[in-house]
Amino acid sequence: MRTVSRLAGIPPTIFATMSALAVRTGSVNLGQGFPDVDGPAEVIARAGAALSEGHNQYAPGAGLPVLREAIARHQQRHYGLSPDPDTEVAVTTGCTEAIAAALLGLVEPGDEIVVLEPYYDSYVAMIQMAGGVRRPVTLHAPDFRLDPAALRAAITPGTRFLLLNTPHNPTGTVLTRAELEDVARLAIEHDLIVITDEVYEHLTFGVPHVPLATLPGMWERTLTLSSLGKSYSLTGWKIGWATGPADLVGALVSAKQWLTYTSGAPLQPAAAYALDEAGGFPAELAADLAARRDLLCEGLAALGLAVNHPEGSYFAITDIGSLGWADGHEFALALPERAGVVAIPTQGFYDSDAGRHLVRWTFCKQPAVLEEALARLGKADLRKH
Ligand code: GLN
Repeated sequence: MRTVSRLAGIPPTIFATMSALAVRTGSVNLGQGFPDVDGPAEVIARAGAALSEGHNQYAPGAGLPVLREAIARHQQRHYGLSPDPDTEVAVTTGCTEAIAAALLGLVEPGDEIVVLEPYYDSYVAMIQMAGGVRRPVTLHAPDFRLDPAALRAAITPGTRFLLLNTPHNPTGTVLTRAELEDVARLAIEHDLIVITDEVYEHLTFGVPHVPLATLPGMWERTLTLSSLGKSYSLTGWKIGWATGPADLVGALVSAKQWLTYTSGAPLQPAAAYALDEAGGFPAELAADLAARRDLLCEGLAALGLAVNHPEGSYFAITDIGSLGWADGHEFALALPERAGVVAIPTQGFYDSDAGRHLVRWTFCKQPAVLEEALARLGKADLRKH
């Protein structure tokens, strides 16, 4: 059989597969990370108004100035960074497009990209489509911290990029300033460009999020990516952005023009309004999520599952070995029938075998939904036989 796809060997995204399985089996969906309550009503009303007020034609390629300026103010307010909204900020169709455009715009075939494992599945697909070579560095269970020696060992003379993610999906690890200083030292020593996915930047639980770009010597080599979806419970809007030095942002915009050309115009003034006028929402959401993390993690632990203590994101990870299972995929496929619940096996987010026994659960659902899932799990026989 001939191989015709640049995606050869890469399975379809597991999130869509597992959401479809949840619908088909009537399961509680703790798989794909999307909230079941929409973000601020006044932000949504702004989007409606933008539609009827005539923001319905192409936006500029890098995004409407009103949103680029609001993103620059957001970076200033939270992190003391002052990107130029004209050259150092670009709007994308969600962070997933930002990742795609960054890799397609910057990577030369054969470039090595060091990436934390487990990784968000789109990283693998996009590195492969860009012709890059991934070099994973494993965050090991149970606490999933970054080992600087492993990071150093993954860097070779062919390495040009680090692709970072903090707060980290799927482990909930939030890299500390000290860990990021190790990353920065290595990036400077080896003259690497860092692409950093920080979509959960506001969703941390009692620990600070430190953008790598704020560390000395890092602004000029870091392309920081984020989005509105996670911070404002508006994942379907697909509004993302990149900030960084003009040459990196410019390379991303050059690739983006051949992907989506421009991003949805009516949502951009509303996204600007969210950042400027509803800035309190993400912190309230984070406080809410911290309580829901506790509800889910305590419930899973009570069922006999070893569970981590995520410091950020939407997700918790369990080790299903305690229930006699060795293969997360097998467990996740049995779960709808056994319990009427869907979760995500993590082994597809690894090159190594380090995640074979791990399963991801989202807690970004209403407490009653989490309780229902736990009640179903409590009634089910979850042991391997
Ligand atoms: N980021 C979300 C998750 O990890 C959704 C990803 C997706 O569906 N592409 O669940």
